[in-house]
Amino acid sequence: MLRVGNWRQAVLEMVQNKAPVWASLKLMNINKDPEIIYGAAYARQRRELFEGSGGAAETEARLLGVVNDAVANVPYYSDRYRRPIHSLAEFKETFGFIDRNIVMSNIDAFVSRRLDKHFYDEGTTGGTSGKPLRLVLPKKRYQKEWAFLHSVWRNVGFDFDVRGVLRNHRFTLRKDFLVNPISKEVIFDNFRVDGEYAKTVRDVIRGQGIRYLHAYPSAAYQLFGEWCRAGIEVPQLKAVLTSSETIFDYQRELIERELGIRVYAWYGHSEKLVFAGLCRYSNDYHVEPAYGFFELMDEDGNPVNRAGRIGEIVGTGFDNFGMPLIRYRTGDVAEYVSDSCQLCGRKVPVIRNITGRWTGERLFNADDSYVTTTALNLHDDLYSVINGIQYYQPRKGVLFVNIIKGCGYRAEHETRLKRHYQERLSGCTIEIKYVDRLIFQKNGKFLQVVNDLN
Ligand SMILES: [Zn+2]
Repeated sequence: MLRVGNWRQAVLEMVQNKAPVWASLKLMNINKDPEIIYGAAYARQRRELFEGSGGAAETEARLLGVVNDAVANVPYYSDRYRRPIHSLAEFKETFGFIDRNIVMSNIDAFVSRRLDKHFYDEGTTGGTSGKPLRLVLPKKRYQKEWAFLHSVWRNVGFDFDVRGVLRNHRFTLRKDFLVNPISKEVIFDNFRVDGEYAKTVRDVIRGQGIRYLHAYPSAAYQLFGEWCRAGIEVPQLKAVLTSSETIFDYQRELIERELGIRVYAWYGHSEKLVFAGLCRYSNDYHVEPAYGFFELMDEDGNPVNRAGRIGEIVGTGFDNFGMPLIRYRTGDVAEYVSDSCQLCGRKVPVIRNITGRWTGERLFNADDSYVTTTALNLHDDLYSVINGIQYYQPRKGVLFVNIIKGCGYRAEHETRLKRHYQERLSGCTIEIKYVDRLIFQKNGKFLQVVNDLN
């Protein structure tokens, strides 16, 4: 029998190349059991998550399992830590932190001597600049990832529903949409969201009864904005499922507050160490304890455990015995909220305001000091008169604020914007510029900050 990945791919290619759209749609609509689609690893993980088993003792056991295996079999760790450890306290006392640079300069030493290549393959971390980091990752990571996604999406009522997808697809042929009946996706071209196509997208969403849109926040914002501007009635969606980019207040303002559609986000990264999804009732993230061991650390390596304090997300994944990363500083930053959720009662770490590791999130003064974009949030009334905003820094100390004007934008708004930025970036020359479009990356991703600093 073919492995799961192979038959899925084979069916998909056959359907997308040969089958008419109606047949793909029909196949998609009879596809109801994700355990058949994603296989045994998915099913095991899903059951564990859906049954809510686990707890502090299990988290500790998993952590010790991966750490002691690394001490025994992975050169980087065997060289530094000679004996197995027996408790979480011992782990925290003994183990130092690593980061991307340390892994890059010792890449082979992080690979287990017992690596069975049959079960692993090589991947790289993305990143918008700099050299990608080479990683050895378990082949089954996708199955597990889907189980976690399906588990957190239950917070917005998702039950292996069809998703409209607006991410990084650009169609070469003049097609309106593609269907993936296996993963149940109706995929749209997000490089083409102009008035005419926006209406087509709406009609397909409506016609197929699609209730979830899986999109980059910037792409969703563009689409919803287009619908509003063109007077196209917005379809009844239950949620916009979103990751990979920071969600900005003006995007939430439009989609959640004006249109009443929940924007549901989650956090993950290509190293696969920490995973967190939003609470059902708020925009705080729950860190999933079955995925990896999570710590929030200040710059000196002390734990951050007081509400309102900011720290760096440090992770130890539970599944990658081939190339274990232990106490890995992700470069992502978050605000600590609590060790349990007051709203839904889950006893897991709660964090908010996660900011990405991309230097793109920082704006630099001439003297090299910087502020992050979170510190630059505007008042709601300013967001309501602009249709888009992006920062461009040709060099440190110079900032262009690119604005798409909305209805009601007047000269006084420009004065306020200028003052707003000057107060926060005192070592910067600020210029407000008006544009029709914002700049998107080649892969369709939107960055709030574009710069030529690297
Ligand atoms: Zn909660």
